[in-house]
Amino acid sequence: MPLLPSTAVAPPRLRLRLPLPLPLHHRPIPLPLPLRHHHTSPHPRLLPLAASLPPPPPEELLHMQATGLVAASQANFMRVIVDAAAPGLDHHRGSDLLCVVRALLKKIRRRVLVGDRVLVGAVDWTDRRGMIEDVFERRSEVADPPVANVDRLVVLFSLDQPKPEPATLTRFLVEAESTGIPFVLVFNKVELVDEQTIAYWRDRLKSWGYDPLFLSVDKQSGFTALAEMLEGQTTVVVGPSGVGKSSLINALRSNQDISEEDPIHKLVEQNSKWFGEQRVGTVSKKSGKGKHTTRHVSLLPIAGGGFLADTPGFNQPSLMKVTKKSLAETFPEIRKALKENEGAKCLFNDCVHLGEHGCVVKGEWERYPYYLQMLDEIKIREEIQLRTFGTKREGDVRYKTGVMGVKQAEPRLELKKHRRVSRKKINQSILDEIEDDIDDLDDDYQFDVKQRTRKR
Ligand code: GDP
Ligand code: ZN
Repeated sequence: MPLLPSTAVAPPRLRLRLPLPLPLHHRPIPLPLPLRHHHTSPHPRLLPLAASLPPPPPEELLHMQATGLVAASQANFMRVIVDAAAPGLDHHRGSDLLCVVRALLKKIRRRVLVGDRVLVGAVDWTDRRGMIEDVFERRSEVADPPVANVDRLVVLFSLDQPKPEPATLTRFLVEAESTGIPFVLVFNKVELVDEQTIAYWRDRLKSWGYDPLFLSVDKQSGFTALAEMLEGQTTVVVGPSGVGKSSLINALRSNQDISEEDPIHKLVEQNSKWFGEQRVGTVSKKSGKGKHTTRHVSLLPIAGGGFLADTPGFNQPSLMKVTKKSLAETFPEIRKALKENEGAKCLFNDCVHLGEHGCVVKGEWERYPYYLQMLDEIKIREEIQLRTFGTKREGDVRYKTGVMGVKQAEPRLELKKHRRVSRKKINQSILDEIEDDIDDLDDDYQFDVKQRTRKR
């Protein structure tokens, strides 16, 4: 692609200082490409609404539009597998498009994740490029790795090397529960232990309310049950390091393995000049972390249909989605106690089950100490969040209602003053992501301008 020297374009600086989203008429909207197609689109999509809409029927798509699945991200590129194109362009279904994300989407904080269903516009069917212009409704999302529309988590542990730690196990289970996504607990490396050890963990987990699978990735045993369970679904494997996540992912990916030949790599290479320019800013100035190196995710096709994220997740469960109130719901033991005692609920409605007078949860169950410990941790985090984002700068926080109705404080932009406090104490991923998004805005705007200039 011919590139203009960067001095040829002097886009207005688009640093955002206002709380978003802005009222429509105040938004600095870079004109989408090509303009007239957006005016005549039979399927006009109001950006703030589209996130709750399903994809349009193919007959409503224009020649330069397609809908598809974001299968990979690298740098500012996303690889979209086309699942529908305008009538007459059916043969493009299943093919790839290399896309950038329309800057406006980032401006209104609509992150595009791997796993999202998207509307691609300005499609060049010959060059196989396009621009992601909208994101359709999202059923679920995982923050680590960032993947949307995940159907299932595999929480992986090993019976030996490393041995399961009840505290760590609990932390992962709580984190998994807090996503609201169905998950299966799997113990790997069964061949390293005897039958009794397996029975021991089976019983112990049963008393916690779980029914784990046992398998060996190395020996390929006990594998089919899991593989069948994941067919047709989008799955993310999570768990501590060393338990065999990468091995499991490799074993599950289908044999018509496309990842080595993943078109995104080739396409990015072909754009190495432009890509090279982007790399200069690879380390986020503010967080000091590589912004383009840490967040790559691809969805690998698995046997029997479905996808598996190539990047395992939650290496360090942050418990960010868990609140003082919602923690109890992440313990099957507590759910059961409350259900069994329906007539006799805890005396106080807002009981956090510290053993208050009239509490039905308090008692002799194995993981109660872990519950109390985590409750303490979450209380401290919530207090810091409140102090940092709540009392001091009310306007910097927006409350997002997440899974299980969990209200979660989330900083708006411009965090300079309080970043130091928050960084130390609070899980960093949300802050980092926002900073990275802000860093990316200018890049994308530049791309828009260049592309627009090129097309004219
Ligand atoms: P990750 O850190 O969770 O991604 O774990 P890896 O997939 O890198 O595996 C860690 C180690 O466990 C490697 O040396 C693997 O060869 C080994 N491993 C994986 N699965 C098994 C298994 O079923 N049995 C045994 N004995 N070792 C395994
Ligand atoms: Zn209680």
